[in-house]
Amino acid sequence: MTEGRIHSIQSLGTVDGPGVRFVVFFQGCPLRCKCCHNPDTWDLSGGKTMTAEEIVEKAKKYVDYFGSDGGITISGGEPLLQCKFATEIFALAHQNGINTCLDTSGCILNDNVKKLLSVTDRVLLDVKYTTDALYRENVGCSIDTPLKFLDYLNKKQIKTTIRQVIIPTINDKVEDAMALKSLLAPYSCVDKIELLSFRKICSVKYDQLKIDFPFKDIPEATAETIEKLNEYLK
Ligand code: SF4
Repeated sequence: MTEGRIHSIQSLGTVDGPGVRFVVFFQGCPLRCKCCHNPDTWDLSGGKTMTAEEIVEKAKKYVDYFGSDGGITISGGEPLLQCKFATEIFALAHQNGINTCLDTSGCILNDNVKKLLSVTDRVLLDVKYTTDALYRENVGCSIDTPLKFLDYLNKKQIKTTIRQVIIPTINDKVEDAMALKSLLAPYSCVDKIELLSFRKICSVKYDQLKIDFPFKDIPEATAETIEKLNEYLK
């Protein structure tokens, strides 16, 4: 069995996919989003090693809590960096009747990723911004990267939740919500859009790593802003 590098595990998570979920945070990410909440997951050589078998054995202890909607979510970091390992976890989860959910930025799409998606029940895909300029400036890749990923999810009709962090002064206006709505309109695989508030509790992680938090001076998004934007996404 492949060994993978894990940042941490949350046994009973309720915010990363449907129902109650066993959430495995992978180590390693090739992107450097300026709003990143988890810079401590970036380094692929960090964290601890585990096998897929060890992870699924651990998850099985919580099946009674999963109910009909819950299951295993893999998040990060960027799980696609350890695609083979992720595929082993999901294949084993399916063998045990456990639902699988992949939380990703959609930054890699190759044959191995397609194999992973063949054992994925739901994808939580970040669409961080709606313009190429904002993507290039604040994520470091073209908007075409996640959109190509979304094209594939649509082709395979894999259930998809789109997630976007709302960042005041950057993507918190009504026009931004309208642009997101029209960008996603052609994709019938998308059955949910989740807007998340930009938070700065992660500042302490940047301090510990002795790296600059590029968005440190941007205010956090309020619940009222999220509520207002959600109205336009209905
Ligand atoms: S993809 Fe996620 S983990 Fe990677 S830099 Fe962006 S926000 Fe951070």
